[in-house]
Amino acid sequence: MKTEQIALSPLAPGANLSLTVHRFGEAGARPKVYIQAALHADEIPGMIAAHHLRERFKALEAEGRIKGEIILVPSANPIGLAQKVLGEPVGRFDLSNGMNFNRGYAYLVPKVAERIKGKLTKDGQANVRLIREAMSAELAAWPTHNAADVLKKTLLGLAIEADVVLDMHCDSEAVVHLYSHTRSAEEFAPLSALLGAHAFLLADESGDDPFDEACSRPWAELADRFPEHPIPFGCHSTTLEFRGEGDVTHEFAKADAAAVLAYLTLRGVVAGEAPAVRQALCTPTPLAASEPVPSPATGMVVFRAEPGARVKAGDVIAEIIDPLTGDVTPARSEADGVMFARILLRFATKGMRLAKVAGTDARRTGKLLSA
Ligand SMILES: [Zn+2]
Repeated sequence: MKTEQIALSPLAPGANLSLTVHRFGEAGARPKVYIQAALHADEIPGMIAAHHLRERFKALEAEGRIKGEIILVPSANPIGLAQKVLGEPVGRFDLSNGMNFNRGYAYLVPKVAERIKGKLTKDGQANVRLIREAMSAELAAWPTHNAADVLKKTLLGLAIEADVVLDMHCDSEAVVHLYSHTRSAEEFAPLSALLGAHAFLLADESGDDPFDEACSRPWAELADRFPEHPIPFGCHSTTLEFRGEGDVTHEFAKADAAAVLAYLTLRGVVAGEAPAVRQALCTPTPLAASEPVPSPATGMVVFRAEPGARVKAGDVIAEIIDPLTGDVTPARSEADGVMFARILLRFATKGMRLAKVAGTDARRTGKLLSA
């Protein structure tokens, strides 16, 4: 394991920041895998999975079993990790401007398309190399305006030339689920099964440029822009949601790390016997079919469905109880599907999202992710 510290933009003169990056295997070896944890800095289940992955990678490297290259960033957001308000950690949004740390990554497609026009050939692998070089060059020219931009640019720069990107997050209260580009469904089907995911959500574009899409989406769009040239999908990227924010145990983290390792073994990054992939708990469904359950009233929230529950349209997900009148209003699912996540709060205002149900009927349009 080689560890480096990358200096970031200081928050103020003297308030220096750095990113810790671990590297395993030979630089330049393929497949190249980029893994990061806690981009939303208060999402610790990914951070502890990274802790267990680091130990496993060190042991595998000592045995000479890392055939590709692995980059692991165990704590991807030092800005967010230092933020607190009235004792509560705030790791999702940048307190300086309210921006979600997992939105607003560089959308490089137009400039990359310009750069590669006339240079693509009939050789798919050569085209992949050309596009990776163009993406890195365009990212280097991406302007930054604040410390979070510099962090985003640095993280994307580490990931953008990888074959596979795993971005480890968690939800509020949830079962394991994951997000990826529609064209990565087959690539991540074994990982979804190995993790025991209850929902696998697919989109071509979910809105506001999250990290995983900044890595994957260019490949789909460039292939569509240049149909006369072979452009293999150069970066399969996924956002992994390791349950809820309180689900920080060695048992969960070891199981998650083992699932990631099994996937990397299947992918040839780690040498070893191909693991048996168990039957998946879910099939991929469109993110546009993931239906929020809004609160129909303001009041106390008493959930009637646990994360992972299979629900039907009309099923009661929660009761909303007015503390003054005692009125009870049921919050119902609008879709058949799996209720894969719900909020941690137990008091809701009318219209607030209480839970998310992965359905199969793609009805939503526009921005598909929550704030
Ligand atoms: Zn997150």
